[in-house]
Amino acid sequence: MQVDTLCVVPIRATKRGDERTPLDGTYDVLICGASFAGLAVARELAGSGAEVLVVDRYEIGERQTSACGIPTVWMEALGLMEAERQRFDSLLMHTPHGDSRFRLPFTFSTFDYRELCALLWRDCDARFETAKVDGRARPANGDGAIAIDTDRGAIAAPLVVDALGWRRVLAGDDGFQPPDAPLSRGLEVHPTGTGEDLEVWIDRRYVPAGYGWSFPARDELRIGVGSFDPRFHVRETTELLAEDLDAERVRYQGNWIPHKLRHATEGGVFFAGDSAGHCLPLSAEGIRTALYFGIALGRELRGVLDGWQSREQAALRYAEFHDSHEWKFRWMLHVQRLVPRIPPRLLGPLVRMLGAKRFVEWSFGHYLQIAPPEFASSGSAHDQQRADQEQHDADHTLGAERDLVEAE
Ligand SMILES: Cc1cc2nc3c(=O)[nH]c(=O)nc-3n(C[C@H](O)[C@H](O)[C@H](O)COP(=O)(O)OP(=O)(O)OC[C@H]3O[C@@H](n4cnc5c(N)ncnc54)[C@H](O)[C@@H]3O)c2cc1C
Repeated sequence: MQVDTLCVVPIRATKRGDERTPLDGTYDVLICGASFAGLAVARELAGSGAEVLVVDRYEIGERQTSACGIPTVWMEALGLMEAERQRFDSLLMHTPHGDSRFRLPFTFSTFDYRELCALLWRDCDARFETAKVDGRARPANGDGAIAIDTDRGAIAAPLVVDALGWRRVLAGDDGFQPPDAPLSRGLEVHPTGTGEDLEVWIDRRYVPAGYGWSFPARDELRIGVGSFDPRFHVRETTELLAEDLDAERVRYQGNWIPHKLRHATEGGVFFAGDSAGHCLPLSAEGIRTALYFGIALGRELRGVLDGWQSREQAALRYAEFHDSHEWKFRWMLHVQRLVPRIPPRLLGPLVRMLGAKRFVEWSFGHYLQIAPPEFASSGSAHDQQRADQEQHDADHTLGAERDLVEAE
């Protein structure tokens, strides 16, 4: 990874040296990664009675991984409102040829990362350990368990989740490296300050393909630039945007952002969040989708623990669920590729046109439905499977009745 633009100085709460005792053993479920996707999976497994281990190289919530902006309804659906910092009912879009304010059909909120992770973890009953995951141990166990190498020893489980972010550490190949991989890059600074608006800049002064942003979070601003082209370095222009906004260039936070779906399962391992490419192209919104797919995966794994489906069935059902979203992600990627081709002088009028109330309501409504908040409170995978089966049986009975009528 080219770390020049992506440097981060986390506040380390993680155990070091002698405190890092050896860690090994076998669990029912091993969840690698304790951010949005990993914690969403763990939360769905609470109360299952299974031995669930969650590992991350940092303590839970120690290292912020985003600007932490999300549709408010998702925070409400998961009971996470205590972590909210600020709420917005409009989006202010800046182009070199004029500004437009979009009145949103639903609000967005910024939140405190550490607090939100703590709230998600509060609802889990898993065990947590800090450990750096190095990859799959070879050879794998013969008893159906999958062994994972960490810097504290090998851990095995029949159900293993990779929620480790874009690197997809537990995949068989290692061919997912920037700048050739379908990854965007994002970097932001977090100065102290206040603001009223959720703001976005589509301006080639900051980035030829991508956008700049300023997300206020009560007493802090999250000012950054994201480039859809991984070859474009965003450090200089992130600093330029901060300078233009008279903000301090402090507390850098950045990472690669996948903009294409990858396989949901591979070699018996389940992937959720950025590791499965669940971040939405164009908007680079990946928190809501990491939670959404994490919940879906958690429900399937719960089905295995409750004994009504096998790991293979869970893999099949989760992959089907993931694949059913593919066309929506593909469509957004088309638009992502289209935006940089629009001549700059047309951008202003186009953005104003797209700001029409009916269009905003229609497009944002569809956008929210890619990962709808109702999903968070909908039934378990077993309920869903029962409903599918009932529907299938009803269709079958109807078909048989129709055949009977036709035969008569
Ligand atoms: C600058 C920037 C701003 C963004 N802003 C937003 C935003 O406002 N809203 C939004 O919806 N999305 C935003 N995104 C995208 C969003 O951050 C991701 O899509 C989201 O964090 C994905 O969640 P995740 O749980 O899959 O992975 P991550 O949040 O990346 O978490 C991965 C976890 O795995 C751990 N980990 C990684 N490797 C290892 C290892 N080898 N061993 C052990 N642990 C490991 C990490 O410590 C981390 O806890 C932003 C991205 C960037 C780069």
